[in-house]
Amino acid sequence: MEDGFARLRAEMVEYQLKGRGIKDPRVLFAMGRVPRHRFLPARLQASAYDDSALPIGSGQTISQPYMVAAMTELLELKGNEKVLEVGTGSGYQAAILAELSNKVVSMERIETLSNEAGKLLKELGYGNIELVAGDGTIGYAPEAPYDGIIVTAACPDIPAPLFEQLNNGGRLVLPVGDRFLQTLTIVKKKEGRMITEYSFGCVFVPLIGKYGFPD
Ligand code: SAH
Repeated sequence: MEDGFARLRAEMVEYQLKGRGIKDPRVLFAMGRVPRHRFLPARLQASAYDDSALPIGSGQTISQPYMVAAMTELLELKGNEKVLEVGTGSGYQAAILAELSNKVVSMERIETLSNEAGKLLKELGYGNIELVAGDGTIGYAPEAPYDGIIVTAACPDIPAPLFEQLNNGGRLVLPVGDRFLQTLTIVKKKEGRMITEYSFGCVFVPLIGKYGFPD
């Protein structure tokens, strides 16, 4: 995709991602390909490749590029997976996942955000993303099980339905903590058992729903 932002995007990949240890070549390629500026309101497009999270409306944010890349890398996608995302937001993370897997289901509780993301993803030609408006803390059973699940909002705990809907050998990547500070957490399912690992500290907007924070 050739656009006026190609150089900024290449620099983002070089300095913010490679420079901080993102190594998976497929993740780096996807981050260099998806036009992040298109997922932002017009007045913020010039900042799209900055090293920061940005507001996308309805009080929500698009994550910092490094965070998107780091969480995606932790999923260890090879290309044939079915992935569930909770927190569609702008649709940017969903597009990155769609570049790297076979099928993406992405859930969003704010219907207007889901609709806007749907229009844009269609315009950009992504045919392997299914958007579902609703509470993602209960997952989406009709498409389960998933080889990878990513939650892009702060979770008070690991939502039980998400672990249930994870395939054996699959990975769930999510920020777990309180409303103000979380730890990026990696949950693996091995023969039905839960294996949990912790990565770095992070700050996300709250996950609100049955297995999330109260509204
Ligand atoms: N991944 C997004 C950023 C997400 S911000 C992107 O790439 O732009 C977190 C999103 O999670 C917000 O849009 C918020 O509305 C949504 N969210 C919060 N609780 C949710 C829930 N229970 N189910 C689905 N989405 C939820």
